[in-house]
This record gives sequence, C-alpha cells and structure tokens, in this order.
Amino acid sequence: MESRYTRQEIYSFIGKKGQAILSKSKIVIVGLGAIGTQTSSLLARAGVGNIILIDRDTIELNNLQRQTLFTEKDIGKPKASQSKNHLKEINSSIKITAFNTDLNSENIKKLIPRYTSIILDCTDNMSTRFLINDYSLQNKIPWIYSSGIKSTSFLMNVIPNKTPCFACVFQQPTSLETCQTSGVLNTTTSLVSSLQVTEALKILLNKNYEKDLLHINLEKNSFDKIKIKKRKFCPACEGEYIYLNSLTPESILRFCSTGNYQIPLKKINLKKLKTSLEKIGKIEDFGTCIKFKTMLIFHNRCLVKAKSEKEAKSLVSKYIGN
Ligand SMILES: [Zn+2]
Repeated sequence: MESRYTRQEIYSFIGKKGQAILSKSKIVIVGLGAIGTQTSSLLARAGVGNIILIDRDTIELNNLQRQTLFTEKDIGKPKASQSKNHLKEINSSIKITAFNTDLNSENIKKLIPRYTSIILDCTDNMSTRFLINDYSLQNKIPWIYSSGIKSTSFLMNVIPNKTPCFACVFQQPTSLETCQTSGVLNTTTSLVSSLQVTEALKILLNKNYEKDLLHINLEKNSFDKIKIKKRKFCPACEGEYIYLNSLTPESILRFCSTGNYQIPLKKINLKKLKTSLEKIGKIEDFGTCIKFKTMLIFHNRCLVKAKSEKEAKSLVSKYIGN
C-alpha cells in the first residue's frame, strides 16, 4: 500500500528517517487564527504525531477570508475544537488535543507539557508571546514567533541557550497594529505559515535553522534578514521570568479579530445555567461551553459579541448574573 507520506519521504530533506521523527514529535500551536489554521493543517498533513491546539476565541464570518480550516458551518463555534474536528478528517492517524481556553501564567504548565518538541506562536498579541518566551526558556523548549499584518510578516526562531530570545529583541509587550485596525491579506498569513512550518521541520529534524529575524513585504516582494543579538541583562535570558510569574489580570479583554469581549466569571455551574437559560431561548452545547444569544459561556469566562464593553457587561449580568 502506498504510504500517505510518500512525496516527502522520497525527498531526502525528510526521508523515511525524518518521517519517523515527525510521527514521534509533539507540537503545541497557540492561536488558531489565520496562521494557526494553516500551520496546523500543514503539520497534520505532514504527519506530526501529536498536536495540541489552544485558542480562546470563536469563529466569525470575517475569519473565513484567511482562516483556511473553517467553513460557514463553523461560525459561532470555538476555534480550537472546530480545528481539531477538521484536522481529524484530514489525518485520523495522529493525536490531536484541543483546549478552548485562554493561555495564561496559571494554566501554561498544564496545557503545554514539558516534553513538547516545539511551541508555535500563532497568536495576535504580544503578552502571550512574552509568556511563551518565559516558559520556553525555563523548560528549554524551542518556539517560533510569527506575525502577519497588511502585506508584512515577521518570523523568528527562539532556541533556548542557542539564539537570542524574544525579550532580547522586542522589549515592550505593547500592542502594535492589529489586523482589526489595519487589515491583512490572506497571502501574508499563509506565507508566514509556510515559513513557520518549514523552520519547525528544520528544528525537529536537526537541520540548519534560520538565525535571523525574517521580515517579508509582499507588496514590494522584499525578503529581509535582520541580524539579532542577545541583549545584555535580558531578564528572561537571566532566568527572571516576569511574565510567567505574574498573575493573570482579571480584566476585560477585547479581541483583535472578532470584536468579542471576554468577561471573567466567578466559577459557575454550566449545567444549571443551561437548564435555566433553555427556558428563555435556544442553547447550543459544546461540552466545555454553551452558546446563548451572542454569548459563549465557559465555566470561568464569557465571550460576548457586543458593540461596547457596557453592552457586553449588561448582557452578562442580565443572563448569567455573575
Ligand atoms: Zn533574552
């Protein structure tokens, strides 16, 4: 019988030996947006044996322009578990785990196992990247930063003890431009995903990986390599993990790609809430969360689609009373 992976096994870059390594590898993908959906699809097709998916958000109509795993039927559902469903259809022979949750300093140890081969950053925010950077250095796990906005993308490998770290190069977790305010081409994100997956393969297969920060502009077709170096007294490199040790801010967040508000909840009983909400309207049950009106309710937080923070808060207090 022809193997699923013949076309990459006959190419010496991977070969049968490399294929065996991929099947034993464990990769964590943080963020299942434009880059994450593409990256997870390529890795599942390539036969990475164990893939863990983490995303806190739900699928919106405007995501379909660039988030290539999703279809119209997925709208309103959680990104991580829907990605898992689609990836299972692509490759049923690998293990896929999905967490529909926020990655933060409190749960990172639980969600990202210490013996992870590589962490892939497919998020759209700086604070999660600084958190991943701390965790990666502490546990000696390589990770790959990626970002895409308009026609510009960035990519950087962080290999503990070998390359400069993210905090050596980027020093403030301030929000830069976002795809909500500036827009993005779907070709920008699929290009950076291709680079990210190729670098991941190089790292897994012990080949020469990229040491510079890559900067690509598709409008100009420019491809720059920016030299980076270790920063003196970089806290993360010196073992001072400030993002890992800081508590999760219990604040309301507005997400880049969807216009969802996240409101933290005191622990609630989802089953009880479901029973009471069923009396007043239609409920969709996704196991770890339920959908009611424009709200996706988890046991400790609620994602609300609303025009303002005030409207989001009032929906939560009206129907959840938390
Ligand atoms: Zn550093």
